[in-house]
Amino acid sequence: MILQEEPIDQTAVIQALRDLLDKDEQYQSGRILGSMCTYPNEFAQRLASMFPEKNLGDPGLFPGTARLEDEAIKMMGEILGSGSVVGNMTTGGSEANIIAMRVARNLRPLPDPEVILPETAHASFFKAADFMGFKPRILEVDDNFMIDLGDLESTLNHNTIAVVGIAGTTALGLVDPIDQMGKIINDFDPGIYFHIDAAFGGFVLPFMRDMGHSFHPYDFSVNAVKSMTSDPHKMGTNLIPSGGFIMRESVYRDGLGFDIPYLAGGAIKHFNIMGTRPGSVVVAFWGLMKHLGRKGFREIVSGCWENTKYFRERIREHESYLNVVVEPIINVIGIKSETRTPITEVDRLLRKKGWYLGLFKNMEPPLIRVVVMPHITRNAIDAFFDDLESILKELHG
Ligand SMILES: *Cc1c(COP(=O)(O)O)cnc(C)c1O
Repeated sequence: MILQEEPIDQTAVIQALRDLLDKDEQYQSGRILGSMCTYPNEFAQRLASMFPEKNLGDPGLFPGTARLEDEAIKMMGEILGSGSVVGNMTTGGSEANIIAMRVARNLRPLPDPEVILPETAHASFFKAADFMGFKPRILEVDDNFMIDLGDLESTLNHNTIAVVGIAGTTALGLVDPIDQMGKIINDFDPGIYFHIDAAFGGFVLPFMRDMGHSFHPYDFSVNAVKSMTSDPHKMGTNLIPSGGFIMRESVYRDGLGFDIPYLAGGAIKHFNIMGTRPGSVVVAFWGLMKHLGRKGFREIVSGCWENTKYFRERIREHESYLNVVVEPIINVIGIKSETRTPITEVDRLLRKKGWYLGLFKNMEPPLIRVVVMPHITRNAIDAFFDDLESILKELHG
């Protein structure tokens, strides 16, 4: 039995936890190179622990917290091109994407709904398809991982309820031609729901643009865009779980949110899949955004970008064995094998040495992914390349 009869004192429990959690990897080691999450900001941690009881499942009881949620959504909207937005904080990008697909389905209830997705779309859209029974129509990408706009045009039809664009793809951090997609959608039918998944890019692209980088317009500045996903628990450096579903205010209709008539705090409407959900991380995120300001986020992104360029340069030293899949445009780097040794083998040997990268073995080409998050330092990168060099020697002599 795991649960014993008698209480165990707190010190002993904490010691037991330390021992058991010793198996977990630590972001601070710098060895987690393939995660889109990071060690959460310490001020945000403090704020979350100060307000642990807040429950946004019953916002009538916590109107102060509910207002902070609203403002957090509006701040994210401002970063993404419009402060005239509504929405909810979610448990992450997956929940936000599933909510977006539900909104699209309810705005256009058709018997045989279809959603047009780039091949590079996140798994959460396929979960949504499974839950809601819509048919995913996949747009294949070319050698540069770009969709063909002609394909979008020919796939749109009278069963299309939504189109998804991605601002910061999971594997390579690339941005779809969202402005051009928006024009094609509007020409076909401006009622089609266009959702942008910026789960990762939402806290990277706007700040890189501030730094002088240019991207296809990807946000609410494109008038066809109805809603966006942006995750505070990735590059927003907030605590898990925190995502954002952000919808243009003019898209909102009565009946789109769920009615919850019986709550102690009074009847409310919300978009979330969850009922009881943490307000602590929302409070923390509001405080974190105010504390950092745009400038603070820009500094985080700028540091990650410097390290991304450094990482990319160091790959050049091993060009006869490995190369980038595309030149990175944000802090995500895909690496492929240039020899007959499969990249999965390089990944296996890296894991054996305690380096954890993302492995996308079903992509063409198969690749390992590095996400240069704030916990990844120059020293960690140097240590990684030392180990990589010995692995490549072992493989190729
Ligand atoms: C991370 C990510 C998601 C999923 O977000 P979770 O917070 O893990 O649920 C969805 N889409 C993209 C593009 C992502 O990078």
